[in-house]
Amino acid sequence: MSREVRVRFAPSPTGPLHIGGVRTALYNYLFARRNGGKMILRIEDTDSQRFVPGAEEYIIESLKWCGIEIDEGVGYGGPHAPYRQSERREIYLQYAKQLVDAGWAYYAFDTPEELDKLRSEAEAAGKTFAYNYEVREKLATSLRLSKEEVEERIARGDQWVVRFKMPENEVVKMDDLIRGHVEMNTSTLDDKVLYKSADALPTYHLANIVDDHLMEVSHVIRGEEWLPSLPLHYLLYRAFGWTDTQPEFAHLPLLLKPTGSGKLSKRDGDKMGFPVFPLFWTSPTGETARGYREDGYLAEAFINMLSLLGWNPGTEQEIFSMQELIDSFSLERVSKAGARFQPDKAKWFNAQYMHAMSAEQLAPYIQPILKAHGVETTDERAGKAAEIMKERMTLVTDMWDLTSFFFVAPTEYDEKLAKKQWKGDNPAMLAELAELLKGIEEFSKENTESVVRAWIEAKGFSLGQVMNTLRLALVGAGKGPGMFDVTEFIGKEETLRRIEAIIANLKPME
Ligand code: GLU
Repeated sequence: MSREVRVRFAPSPTGPLHIGGVRTALYNYLFARRNGGKMILRIEDTDSQRFVPGAEEYIIESLKWCGIEIDEGVGYGGPHAPYRQSERREIYLQYAKQLVDAGWAYYAFDTPEELDKLRSEAEAAGKTFAYNYEVREKLATSLRLSKEEVEERIARGDQWVVRFKMPENEVVKMDDLIRGHVEMNTSTLDDKVLYKSADALPTYHLANIVDDHLMEVSHVIRGEEWLPSLPLHYLLYRAFGWTDTQPEFAHLPLLLKPTGSGKLSKRDGDKMGFPVFPLFWTSPTGETARGYREDGYLAEAFINMLSLLGWNPGTEQEIFSMQELIDSFSLERVSKAGARFQPDKAKWFNAQYMHAMSAEQLAPYIQPILKAHGVETTDERAGKAAEIMKERMTLVTDMWDLTSFFFVAPTEYDEKLAKKQWKGDNPAMLAELAELLKGIEEFSKENTESVVRAWIEAKGFSLGQVMNTLRLALVGAGKGPGMFDVTEFIGKEETLRRIEAIIANLKPME
């Protein structure tokens, strides 16, 4: 009997979504699509201290930009709504109580001050305090206090938490789809808090297990940092009696710094000049962080790059559309070892995608850039300009620099090029060329080129001289595509206008 594949991406809205988080979402999505399953977006916002306004919206917008589609979840609804844990708070208390009643958990009444005291006493004795089987019977817990006393404390409003009663000296046997079989002795683990009366909220562990169960999640695919929580999660499934429908687990390898050592952090990005977030982020206090989108990356290239950080197709293929990723993805090909992030490779992917785009595909990227510079033009012309120059583009943000001369006449001339070209017979030669161009009826690239070449030959000019002088007039600098691409694009009138302008405005150099 095979089970319907249901996966979830369950971020906590504590800030912008790190690209490691995007990769987790991506692998969940690919796995769901590959297996005809469903992708859930659950927002785990039970830690009110770490909640950051705007983070949830940022997460949703990032997933949309990446093309990671959600079937059920916050912003999408679905049969298990609500999907935001803060809106499910009534659900969790009964489950915490169920565990207490069954003897799997207990109430603990220690105040933060008492816990601090225990910690510093342990420290003074050169130990670290752990709330576990060694101490729980001696502390203010329902394991020691009488039933009446517990009830009285709760009734009078003392604050309490529910803690999981981690068994002593038991080996938890676990299976991970990426890491294989893992074992852990429970004596090394402490009694995690599951629920807090202070804010009437569950902690991550309880809410996560309860929701995965209620939302019928079949596979939990998440970052390696959650592997240490796996024994507790296994034991929670057992305590609830849900072992039969317990999801399968897959813990994804870390994204490593470009140097290969340690986890990729925002600081690495700042230091080396690359973003670690998908979109530009402004925190409620006004701090900002750069994003791939605003830095000029295409979502498709960004996703392609991320997909290969931890997964490999087993072939030499590097360029994958989302559909191709869906068709080839499998957890078996996700590696255990951390994946080193390479900023140059991200750029390489982006360039590959830009070079392969048609004028039509380029138009929506270049249009806003042109508009921002006050250029109004048709999508067709905008796209064509980008297409002519695309081979030289790495990022979307390169577009203005590479295409502006198609739309705006030079207002100043590159000094070096002017010094070299705007002297001797060249101004007069350009004036003569203008006369020739005036007479050309069909101003297409091919026709103009053949007429001009014949003229150059007849006159005995050097092709380089003529072209570089024309470039100075039309582009204003030693860049741009072939000159006849420019003349065709800007047209006869504009070509003549730019030649007249340089003759009128630039004094020949000596
Ligand atoms: N809320 C957790 C996080 O922010 C989810 C971990 C999990 O997927 O179980 O990463």
